[in-house]
Amino acid sequence: MTAQAYARASAASGLPGGREALNRYARFYRLGPAGLKAPGPSAGPAPVHRRLVSDSPEGQVVKFTQLVPRRLGAEPTPGDAAVRLAVSGGDDRVETESVLIPMVGRTRGRCYTLCVSSQVGCAMGCGFCQTAQMGLLRSLTVEEIVGQWYAARHLIDRPDPEAPITNVVFMGMGEPMDNLAAVVGAIEVLTDSRGPALAMSRITVSTVGRIDGIRALGRHVHRPGWHRLALAVSLNAPTDEIRSGLMPVNRAMPLARLREALAEWPIYGGSHQCIEYVLIPGVNDRHEHADAVASFVLGAEHRPAGGEPRYDGPRLTAMVNVIPYNPRDGSPWPAPDEAVVDAFMERLKSRGVYVKRRRTKGRDTMAACGQLGNPALRRRPARV
Ligand code: SF4
Repeated sequence: MTAQAYARASAASGLPGGREALNRYARFYRLGPAGLKAPGPSAGPAPVHRRLVSDSPEGQVVKFTQLVPRRLGAEPTPGDAAVRLAVSGGDDRVETESVLIPMVGRTRGRCYTLCVSSQVGCAMGCGFCQTAQMGLLRSLTVEEIVGQWYAARHLIDRPDPEAPITNVVFMGMGEPMDNLAAVVGAIEVLTDSRGPALAMSRITVSTVGRIDGIRALGRHVHRPGWHRLALAVSLNAPTDEIRSGLMPVNRAMPLARLREALAEWPIYGGSHQCIEYVLIPGVNDRHEHADAVASFVLGAEHRPAGGEPRYDGPRLTAMVNVIPYNPRDGSPWPAPDEAVVDAFMERLKSRGVYVKRRRTKGRDTMAACGQLGNPALRRRPARV
């Protein structure tokens, strides 16, 4: 819950409210467990269960997990720290997964991006994704999402303790739009100036392309303080035929409708959308695929040689982020060759698309994009 909500709840439950409660809230988030002598704004996040480290050119990538009950006792109210989780059995837990990714900023300063999960598992069934192999086990609460930040900030040994966690991306397990109320509640806490105090512009919500969710989240972007919230969309394919084969969501929400929803997303000074494109060898990596992606981004501005534009709408204020495929367990596809990645990016650039490459980090500990998820929990029925 936010600081103000905590102060109200504190007073209502007989604890000191007002300034004292606000200070207690700030100590909880800024100083960690050591900062609290009296009850804080949470029963406390789940402890870190597993910690896996791998090297990258910018430093060590840390994937960590926390155990949470497999089932909630009741559906949580977003922001309600009084939610208590009913546990059906002593060891009946599932794992959240988070990844702490080292970055070197433009001014050579070091910082971390934290990739958080919004669900355990995922119902979306994307063919290239490890998490999809689990199915959806359950959605996480506000506390459990914020608890991932708290663990990264206060409970695990960061390889570079001086480097701050400046960015949070909802790109871990789960589809954030499937758990939107809790995601919005978590963003309210993460950006609370008395709490984690992250800048809204440093928070990214990544969706598989749920059009209803994009529109619902877009309404929040009009709120004061929310204008710079970043949106990322997994495109991953240039045509409905290929995309529906990779991502079942496309059968209900095809590319033209997705593009309409993206064009409606409120853009405030300097912000842009991120279109993610997982490059899979032999599936979506040809020059004509790059041309179709350019058409998706540029709309009517893009006119293929001798043809009509594929998409007629306005140009999207978007950057394409090319992500070389990270093979999941039992993957039918390998990782792409460097030359293919370079050629695909060059083709996009030549069409006038702003394009970047996501550098692969954490592949050997299954911490890279599309690799989260514990196969041991795969669709195991919950004990009730
Ligand atoms: S890519 Fe994202 S939306 Fe698709 S199955 Fe994986 S976690 Fe879910």
